[in-house]
Amino acid sequence: MKAQDVKNMIKKSMSKKSLTQTIDLTQIDGDGSFPCPKCGTVISPEDETEEVYKIVDTKIINDELVELVIMCSHCRSNIKLTGFEATIEGIPNE
Ligand SMILES: [Zn+2]
Repeated sequence: MKAQDVKNMIKKSMSKKSLTQTIDLTQIDGDGSFPCPKCGTVISPEDETEEVYKIVDTKIINDELVELVIMCSHCRSNIKLTGFEATIEGIPNE
């Protein structure tokens, strides 16, 4: 097998992995709901029924949620939510 073939294989397997879309909550107006970047289903972070999305991963720093990875229940794409920290006031710098 040639090195080029290996490279192509790696490229292929990498592109197979579903790309995680990132949504910056500071860029969203209103109640924080946004359309799924892939299928357009409106996802509201306030919705906790898990009918529209499921929480896949969370990143918590200093007891504050800074990052949330969710999966759209409709198209199963992963969406990373950032920008939570912008709503937090007065975090000590230590
Ligand atoms: Zn979707």
